Amino acid sequence: MGNGQGPQGDVRRRRVQRLKKMILLSVAAWLILPVGLCIVLFARIGALEGQARETQGILEQMAEAVSRLEAAREEEIQTPQPDRKEAVVTAPEAGGDDRGTEEPEAAHKVYLTFDDGPSKYTPEILDILDTYDVKATFFVLGKENDYSIEMLREIARRGHTIGMHSYSHKYAEVYRSVEDFSADFYRIYSYILENTGIQSVCYRFPGGSSNTISDIDMHVFADFLAEQEVEFYDWNVSSGDGGSVLLDADTLIRNATSGILGQETSIILMHDAASRSTTVEALPGIIETVLAMEDTAILPITGDTTPIHHIK
Ligand code: ZN
Repeated sequence: MGNGQGPQGDVRRRRVQRLKKMILLSVAAWLILPVGLCIVLFARIGALEGQARETQGILEQMAEAVSRLEAAREEEIQTPQPDRKEAVVTAPEAGGDDRGTEEPEAAHKVYLTFDDGPSKYTPEILDILDTYDVKATFFVLGKENDYSIEMLREIARRGHTIGMHSYSHKYAEVYRSVEDFSADFYRIYSYILENTGIQSVCYRFPGGSSNTISDIDMHVFADFLAEQEVEFYDWNVSSGDGGSVLLDADTLIRNATSGILGQETSIILMHDAASRSTTVEALPGIIETVLAMEDTAILPITGDTTPIHHIK
């Protein structure tokens, strides 16, 4: 009976087994391949998403840097050139003798103003101001991160004036139309109000009121601010810290202080910005130099402060 299958039966059996094995292997391959491919693809997608997020971050940083450069270039246009020995009066004395007289009397009133903050230097600036028991004015931007909001509150808590310097500081957006200006104005106004409870009454135009970037006559925006009962403040002394070249502390001190005794009101332009390290270095020297001057007071801007306007 056993002979009935013989060697031919063995061959058939082996062939069938081989065939079974091949079928099993190809089924396994068809199952494993797609799963493997999926894993590889998911890993690639994850990596690409990471790269996209990084690229997004870099793009945001670049946009901010471009806007700062624009600001620096613009402020350089209308303020003393870096290597000038003296601070230069760039605006006529503004009128307004009939404004309030709440401020302490002094022959020379000096207002330290810091644009573009908060920044990583805000804590140092605040500590230096505290050391000399001096109050200043910070024209801030709408920075929504936790650190900036904490700094904004700290500026207020230590008794300094918080002014508006636009929400975005993007010239192309802020000055596109009165509607855009108004929208940006309310964003920065609300940002300050919501985070500090302060209804800010002073504004500094990005690039100043004499900027040459806005296609719309700056008087239109000045009128808008007047309707909101908000005063705008340009500057008549520049420390020179806003230019594209980083000036050393001694030059900043000279620029900021040499013109003060020649005028009643000195509104000094400085920056609270990450790229402006020498401002912090110069600040103690600026304050000491001013405090040593006769009949001179360093004051925060208030509703009683005589404004300096670049435009008439
Ligand atoms: Zn600015």
